[in-house]
Amino acid sequence: MDNMRHPHPTGDLSALAKADPQTLQNLYALYNENTEKLRLAFERLEKRFREIDPYNIYNSITEALITLDQEEKILTFNSAAEKIFGLRERDVIDQPFRDCLPVCAASLADYRFSGSTENRYEITFRDERGDPVVLRGRYSPLLDRDGVEIGTTCLFTDLSLERLLEEKARRAGRLTALGELAAGVAHEMRNPLTTIRGYLQILPACKDDEGFIQEFSENLIREIDRLTRLTDDMLNMAKPISPELPVESMSAVVLDTLHFLADQFTARGIRLRVGEDRDGSPVRMDRDRIKQVMINLLVNAMEAIGENGEVEIRFSRRLEKMDENQPPRTFAVTEVVDNGPGIPPHWLDRIFDPFFTTKDTGTGLGLALSHRIVEEHGGFIRVDSAPGEGTRFWVLLPMAEG
Ligand code: ADP
Ligand code: MG
Repeated sequence: MDNMRHPHPTGDLSALAKADPQTLQNLYALYNENTEKLRLAFERLEKRFREIDPYNIYNSITEALITLDQEEKILTFNSAAEKIFGLRERDVIDQPFRDCLPVCAASLADYRFSGSTENRYEITFRDERGDPVVLRGRYSPLLDRDGVEIGTTCLFTDLSLERLLEEKARRAGRLTALGELAAGVAHEMRNPLTTIRGYLQILPACKDDEGFIQEFSENLIREIDRLTRLTDDMLNMAKPISPELPVESMSAVVLDTLHFLADQFTARGIRLRVGEDRDGSPVRMDRDRIKQVMINLLVNAMEAIGENGEVEIRFSRRLEKMDENQPPRTFAVTEVVDNGPGIPPHWLDRIFDPFFTTKDTGTGLGLALSHRIVEEHGGFIRVDSAPGEGTRFWVLLPMAEG
């Protein structure tokens, strides 16, 4: 009986003739059950085939996929291509690619010329509503089943939304920075103004007190100097950089800066060492502003180490990648190293913030300003410091070509 419920497919069929009705009924039920299972399995399989039909994939992807024949006439044009370029498949099939999509003609020509499969083009145009569209285009050979090249495959990814969001985030960031800056300036101006007001208020009562007048004028001058320094720094920060910059030697600029800082270093008993600059570090720069950066770094070092310290300036060159998509380029590196107290880790990521200062008379604008100047030159500033181990600032500026 048990044997009958699971008959082997190649089992002896003559046994069926002798089987009793109950056994036959069981067999029939089993047959029905298995047929149903098979039907379901078949349905699932069919559905999967429908789903992975290349045609569905081709029209569901969000990238515009276009194929061209050897004469650059359009063979296929998927749904995303219709949407992105605002054209209909039936209007462009068999038409020359360059006529249908003139905005892509230059990139296709470049791909044809270079023949590189590692290509990546940025294509921008305005859609029929006048909105800017940014595409990343890639071209590759279209191959047949035997791997023979029969045309070109063009793939375009729409980056417009991504770009829009990036721009929005940047703008929001700028507005926040502006708000913070305004709040900082207001705060910084309030202190000297309050002091000046206080003195002026008691002036009538004390105008015959010589000691007071002495103190009055000293403090007034100090506070007004502070306001002047603040406005100078603010103005420097707002000044745009000129687009046409002459090539100057970084080490020459540093020596120039040291020329008028040397006395202050000597007066404080600080030893100064300047390394050799074998390359001369030619950099396209606004000389006065780069000098401003060096003054800020050197004065900070001087203020940090106090007596009997040592400051060293070193020059070198270094190959560095600014971001993923750019080839590496050569930077002129200027290091300012001091053996002062160093910067605690919890301050390290704040020292470039406007108005961050740990000094009584500091403005906290020196490093913020330096950072901005160096960035405007296409470079960057880094810092390496630990308490008790001194501080090292590196200024990297793109080396001038040739
Ligand atoms: P300020 O000099 O007016 O304080 P900066 O922007 O020049 O403003 O510097 C910000 C802060 O960074 C300083 O107050 C100090 O705490 C820290 N700092 C900068 N350079 C050094 C250095 N070489 N050694 C130790 N601390 C430093
Ligand atoms: Mg400073």
